[in-house]
Amino acid sequence: MIMRESANLYYSRLRVSDNQLTAKAESTYLIREARHVGLAVGLDTLKYTSVDLNVRSVLDYLVLKSQGMLGFPSDMQWLYGYFSPHIVRNMPPQYFCMVTRKGALGVGSFPEVEWHKREKENIMKAVELKVEHGERVDYGESRRVYRTAGDEEHIQVIDDYFSGLSMGKIAKKTDRSSATILAQIQGHNEAMEKFGFCVKCRRLKGKHETERTSNRVVSAFSSLKTTTTQSE
Ligand SMILES: [Zn+2]
Repeated sequence: MIMRESANLYYSRLRVSDNQLTAKAESTYLIREARHVGLAVGLDTLKYTSVDLNVRSVLDYLVLKSQGMLGFPSDMQWLYGYFSPHIVRNMPPQYFCMVTRKGALGVGSFPEVEWHKREKENIMKAVELKVEHGERVDYGESRRVYRTAGDEEHIQVIDDYFSGLSMGKIAKKTDRSSATILAQIQGHNEAMEKFGFCVKCRRLKGKHETERTSNRVVSAFSSLKTTTTQSE
């Protein structure tokens, strides 16, 4: 796994977890556990210190390229005992210095590969990659004593309702109050009135994004009819 500009990523993480702290703990955990599952993680960053210390402290190999006028980070100053500051400042892009976790040092070069992206080359076009910017999925939020229903749960409620389950049964199944279930169904229908589709259902590609729940009995009945005709 290669993560380019990892400092950006580590600080603008998607909030899949309840809060930033959990997200940070989980990403550090992933990196720490990566070696046990055979996953090699490569983090690329412009500035060494902008990646979290918890992450930096578990790295096995540190590759340092041309450092420019800022030079090596302060806790890496000892490297100047081995590498000339002038060379470190002006290294051509293919050269690098390397430090291992145990302090072994090395120098090396990456010869440029012929398929390397050229400046101004439109890489997206070259590999026919189309980027779509979808809406951010709502994963539900923790409000101390309760948790708001996210998109996934919304779709589950709507699907269950369409398949003929009563609100009471869905409430029991999802361990929610009937009021929450009713709110999801009402929200779904209100969105239909306003936009012609349900935003929550669309974000996670729910089956009923353009269907009003008032049609559910009819559709349940018609599907029943088709199955009977088929069996005849
Ligand atoms: Zn919906």
